[in-house]
Amino acid sequence: MRQVIIIGSGPAGYTAAIYAARANLAPLVIASSVEAGGELMNTTEVENFPGFPEAIMGPDLMTKMQQQAERFGAEIVYDDVVDLDLAGPTKTVTLGSGAVHQADAVVFATGSAPRKIGIDGERRLSGRGVSYCATCDGFFFREKVIAVVGGGDSAMEEATFLTKFASKVYVIHRRDELRASKIMQDRAIANDKIEFVWNAEIADILGEDAVTGVLLRDTVDGTERELPLDGVFVAIGNDPRTHLVHDKLALTPEGTVQVDGRSSRTSIPGVFAAGDVIDPTYRQAVTAASSGTVAALDVEHYLAGLGEAGAPAPDAAEIDGLPDADAA
Ligand code: NAP
Repeated sequence: MRQVIIIGSGPAGYTAAIYAARANLAPLVIASSVEAGGELMNTTEVENFPGFPEAIMGPDLMTKMQQQAERFGAEIVYDDVVDLDLAGPTKTVTLGSGAVHQADAVVFATGSAPRKIGIDGERRLSGRGVSYCATCDGFFFREKVIAVVGGGDSAMEEATFLTKFASKVYVIHRRDELRASKIMQDRAIANDKIEFVWNAEIADILGEDAVTGVLLRDTVDGTERELPLDGVFVAIGNDPRTHLVHDKLALTPEGTVQVDGRSSRTSIPGVFAAGDVIDPTYRQAVTAASSGTVAALDVEHYLAGLGEAGAPAPDAAEIDGLPDADAA
């Protein structure tokens, strides 16, 4: 029986692990079998994480976070959670390998997954020219003509990165104004290989066994036209990964796990959530890391408030000394 199990190994999960380990809680981190390290493993240079003035590669940052957590006694398991029993005072976590772990507290930090356009051609040609990860798949598009869909920071970052490989990169955006930050916009706009296609959405992705183009629909006048392409990178945002808990924990209207004010307390005592899975707005590595800190501190307070072995777990909101979530 553990004191705390942390599900997820992005900046939120590893930061929660660093704090929990330093508090002698010997956390077990379920890091996932293929997505360990989270979204930053698919990123190139991270220029806005404090402490790295020359930038740091996403995977390097995650390796450092992992090493920092392990240094203080966190144990990391590269497996996927397939079932969760969170209702009682003892939380049970079942992994794909069949291993079962139990703990007094769980931190749910599963992050978010790339959003899909939701059209037939996208499903059919996924992995055959349709990609959600420029750093993973960009190499396959040397001297090819490709498109990035989206108008946020992710789309600008992916488009700029892909110009290292592709001969031309279209950015297809449904409006005539970008959502991306100014610095990311300016970098993409200044790049000669990038051409913006404004007020356009993808009605379909064309091709039998591989992408040959897209059917574009003008969002202003509804007219359609084909654009020949070798690949499509979808970068239209992310959705919180809540499939393991959607019938167990209260969710917000945006689909994130609901937490109590500025705390990490979910609708079940002893279950805490952190990072992108609770954040529909900011979704930065540094905000996820800070959210992991909050979760670890909340876990510490919760465990400190638990009674004698076997006594029922107190309601998290009633634990003495827990900071008032709504206090400024
Ligand atoms: P985002 O900011 O939510 O932008 C998503 C973009 O995709 C928007 O331009 C949106 O259009 C478009 N979009 C959404 N659904 C669509 C659909 N069904 N069809 C076509 N277009 C669609 O997502 P993001 O770019 O992934 O960024 C998420 C967060 O991560 C942001 O906070 C961002 O700052 C951060 N981030 C930071 C960096 C960095 O600083 N290095 C890099 C990547 C991401 P509308 O604009 O019309 O809504």
